[in-house]
Amino acid sequence: MNQTILITGGAGFIGSHLADRLIKDGNKIIVLDNLVTGRTANIEHLLKVPGFKFVNHNVSEFISIEEDLDWVMHFASPASPVDFKKLAIPILKVGSLGTHNALGLAREKNAKFFLASTSEVYGDPLVHPQPESYFGNVNPIGPRAVYDESKRFAEAITMAYYREHNIDTRIIRIFNTYGPRMRVDDGRVVCSFLSQALAGKDITVFGDGSQTRSFQYVDDLIEGIVRLMSVDFHEPVNLGNPHEFTMLELADKIQAIVSSSCQLKFEALTEDDPKRRKPDISRAKQLLDWQPKIELEQGLEMSIDYFKSLQQA
Ligand code: UDP
Repeated sequence: MNQTILITGGAGFIGSHLADRLIKDGNKIIVLDNLVTGRTANIEHLLKVPGFKFVNHNVSEFISIEEDLDWVMHFASPASPVDFKKLAIPILKVGSLGTHNALGLAREKNAKFFLASTSEVYGDPLVHPQPESYFGNVNPIGPRAVYDESKRFAEAITMAYYREHNIDTRIIRIFNTYGPRMRVDDGRVVCSFLSQALAGKDITVFGDGSQTRSFQYVDDLIEGIVRLMSVDFHEPVNLGNPHEFTMLELADKIQAIVSSSCQLKFEALTEDDPKRRKPDISRAKQLLDWQPKIELEQGLEMSIDYFKSLQQA
């Protein structure tokens, strides 16, 4: 490809996998990250690779870059429900000010712009599965609103820059994604259940465990992202695995894979926790000839060594 691509949040879980793939495809990569939830360990192996550069910068502040750029890919944001309380204002800022700055940079450099949005824009959905045409059911003042509303704003400003400034934009809505490089304190369910099962601790199921999610292995997501970069399409595209599980089913699967017989410990459900979530991926299938290839058991197997290494750290 031989392009120069700036990735905000490129030291994070998804951003660093994206950096790996785009470097492998022959591009130059500049990662901008303030390491609030990203980690240098995720990109350490890239630091000596020619064509890779890391800049420690908070993208909610003005971004100044010397290099010419072909793409600005905006992946910076804390994204776990445990962050929504701890990092409420940084999340609101990076989705709003950060997106504005990243779009401004794309405009200045005459670069294309790629926004990582989220299934959280659908809130606690009343339509199932969720197609991109669904406007969502979001509580604008609840604890999840800091993430949901800033990403909704991010989509709105991205579409405005596309319409007003003719920036060549892409938007993806990422559904629950897991894999190596998730933070040890990430708090999201695959991370929590796997870590608990490996440590022989009780598995903390929130509510009665009947709520559902659909889990995508990170490599499938990265493939969808790369495919969308070469398609001329500006409206949002769902990227997720449509195979839906209850949290009780997930706990069972993880116990089977880890060969653990931990107890389930039921804890209170957090406010506005979506009851069901499953992507309608018809658009991605048609547009990108893409669908996830890695099912949950296989993806968990592929992640387990990483989660074991977290136990030892
Ligand atoms: N969950 C759980 N136990 C945990 C962490 C999460 O039962 O230790 C549940 C949570 O209530 C939610 C689902 O798992 O229904 C997915 O939560 P996660 O934090 O992974 O992300 P979300 O999809 O809510 O953004």
